[in-house]
Amino acid sequence: MKIIDIIKSPKPTLSFEVFPPKTSQNFESVRMAIEEIAELEPDFMSVTYGAGGGTSDFTADIAAGIQDKYGVPALAHMTCVSSPRTQVRRVTDTLKDKGITNVLALRGDIPEGFDLSTADYRYASELIREIRERGDFCIGGACYPEAHPESKDSFADLARLKEKADSGCEFFTTQMFFDNAILYNFIYRARAAGISVPIVAGIMPVTNAAQIKRIMAISGAALPQHFVRIVDRYGSNPKAMMQAGIAYATAQIIDLFANGVPAVHVYSMNKPEIARLIMENVSHIIR
Ligand code: FAD
Repeated sequence: MKIIDIIKSPKPTLSFEVFPPKTSQNFESVRMAIEEIAELEPDFMSVTYGAGGGTSDFTADIAAGIQDKYGVPALAHMTCVSSPRTQVRRVTDTLKDKGITNVLALRGDIPEGFDLSTADYRYASELIREIRERGDFCIGGACYPEAHPESKDSFADLARLKEKADSGCEFFTTQMFFDNAILYNFIYRARAAGISVPIVAGIMPVTNAAQIKRIMAISGAALPQHFVRIVDRYGSNPKAMMQAGIAYATAQIIDLFANGVPAVHVYSMNKPEIARLIMENVSHIIR
């Protein structure tokens, strides 16, 4: 089933993100965690794609397993900036062969010292056009409510986002954010810029204090004072931080659905416990 049809259905969409193992040695333990999340029957699951390294080979296998064994539609991520055209075409064909029709098309982070002018693909929009030509895929892309870190400003970022939609991107999933007002403002500006495709809100439950530094480094997401206070107060008590982090993410999700956001994607980080608690907290809201 195409993700766009799920998002457009009247039911609020709740999905989870998982990532493949780095090596084949821990493939089994990761697969089992991912399957536990699939058993919760989310509306779809996305599987990330490692830019370079071994993990990209596992994305298609894990996505296919989620679909075939649990009947949960899978969204396979794919990056392009450090991949030759032949590899992108091979991966696209593999996805097609495995029955995966949903792809999140990404540029990926530029490796240090990499000369972008030598790349077969410099931007996600080029990958979107390539995938579109190779099959009947439902293609999504990434968007950044607080602007992509490389962008000059949020207006330039939105102009590029419009290009992605015009290239055939049918929905966008956001980078994580911790203040819903940032998302509402972003949606307003995206619509004003002529971007009409659905925007899926990406929510990261923060369940341990160590995550915060990593999140700040990766996403540059702003942390509201009331959230910082929660981490300050409960960060050194793992069980309390788990409860507080799930409660904070749940409150964000309920507010998003209540305000008409059609779909929420939870960065569940291969943690079945997090997925289960979130699912329980909103079970009547999404059914
Ligand atoms: P693009 O849309 O190409 O944008 C990158 C930058 O280039 C932006 O600043 C944009 O404004 C600018 N730009 C775009 N087009 C042009 C143009 N024509 N001319 C000039 N500038 C332009 N990374 C992984 O490695 N694996 C994953 O599985 C993965 N999943 C992700 C899922 C989500 C929901 C998100 C939000 C991010 C994910 N990422 C993943 C990270 C992503 O690869 C990085 O954020 C990357 O730096 C940008 O990717 P993009 O697809 O947004 O790039």
